[in-house]
Amino acid sequence: MNKINKYLLIIVWLSIGLNISPPIWAKESSVDKEERPKIRILIVPGHDKENYGSQFKKIKEANLTLALANRLLKLLKNNNRFETWITRDKLGYKTEFKNYFSENKQAIKDFISTLKSNYQESIISKKIVLVKKVPHANAKPVVVSTLFGINKWIDENKIDLVLHIHFNDYPRKKTVRAGKYTGFTVYYPEKQLINHEISAKIANHLFKDLKKKFKPSNYKKENGGLVEDQVLIAMGTKQSLNSQTATILIEYGYIYEPKFQKEKTLDQLALITYQSLINYFK
Ligand SMILES: [Zn+2]
Repeated sequence: MNKINKYLLIIVWLSIGLNISPPIWAKESSVDKEERPKIRILIVPGHDKENYGSQFKKIKEANLTLALANRLLKLLKNNNRFETWITRDKLGYKTEFKNYFSENKQAIKDFISTLKSNYQESIISKKIVLVKKVPHANAKPVVVSTLFGINKWIDENKIDLVLHIHFNDYPRKKTVRAGKYTGFTVYYPEKQLINHEISAKIANHLFKDLKKKFKPSNYKKENGGLVEDQVLIAMGTKQSLNSQTATILIEYGYIYEPKFQKEKTLDQLALITYQSLINYFK
């Protein structure tokens, strides 16, 4: 071997030497955790300015759901594990959603009519049995279109979890007075809906955590505060959400319960929900 070849060999050895894997200790870092895909969460503060839901004295449900949703959003946004969206703020629907609704008017109509006819077919052919457990007020056409529009957006944006935030009420005569029911209820998709399984797990998890601090609903039909539902649009009724999207709707309590007039209660509810989500997705 001549001198030049010898030097070449040494250079090759050296470069191989430089390419060897780093020692094991160097691999032990938090890099793996940070590289996990973020959990994509959409928060939907129930109702909106035009259709504000229930009301007790001066408290409108749409304002209360937003107050709680904003607290939760703030907590989630500060955590790298999550990527978060919210459908509206105090000015109304966020630009992304406002534009989506107006640019996709016809597409949303088509989305609804296709879902409806497929669903009817499934019921006629007995692939699906219609189940109605808790009575709900019928939504106005504009609300139906908005909620299905949100579901369509969710399907297109690969959302992992949808959190619908509400405060409960029930049909009664004297709404100036507090009603007889109290407590929270967690709704999740009924077992025939394709997103049932993924949603049931997280619904049960959140229910247990909320129950440590707050009392579940004492309204018999609300089944001790954990309810499967097939007809609410938020649940992905008519298979309007895909099987990879978990969705839950939390009625955090009855709107006339005095504790909801305190900011502190909203802080607590947001924190419990947030901590429960961290534990679930750790
Ligand atoms: Zn509501």
